[in-house]
Amino acid sequence: MAGKAKKAAAGSKPAVLENDCIFCKIIKGEIPCSKVLEDNEFLAFMDIRPIIKGHALVIPKSHCTNILDFPKAEETDLVEFIKKVAKAVVKATDADGFNLGMNNGEAAGQVVMHAHFHIIPRFKDDGLVSWPHKEYAPGEIEGMRNKIKSFL
Ligand code: 5GP
Ligand code: ZN
Repeated sequence: MAGKAKKAAAGSKPAVLENDCIFCKIIKGEIPCSKVLEDNEFLAFMDIRPIIKGHALVIPKSHCTNILDFPKAEETDLVEFIKKVAKAVVKATDADGFNLGMNNGEAAGQVVMHAHFHIIPRFKDDGLVSWPHKEYAPGEIEGMRNKIKSFL
């Protein structure tokens, strides 16, 4: 539609400057955190307001906003790092499972604009409700699939 403002993608939100970034301050030790694990690339620490107790966050030490500008060189190591922390969270809390989550963009619930992964221990009776599912109208799923494919 002519004149219609283009929607900002999750990765195109104006970047938060590192100096103003709360997680960069945690990395630099300017704000305290309950550190779980760190190496040269990543830091894991306890979420201060857990969804479930044991909730931990994993962040890259180099500032980036979300998964879309995540440094390519660190992608492989990231998975290993997350697995290590997640196993420890599950063992420590005696959880039945865990959610690995990431909010990308304000509309998706991202509040801190430094990429971070949530590791949330889950229990069979923890009462957390899953996201509700919707239904497609006949043929709608293929239309959506085709539209997504056209951007690949
Ligand atoms: P988001 O909603 O951006 O995906 O998640 C941000 C998370 O960071 C929230 O779960 C919030 O509780 C956590 N958080 C925000 N500020 C701090 C802080 O200063 N220290 C710690 N440890 N966690 C924080
Ligand atoms: Zn940052």
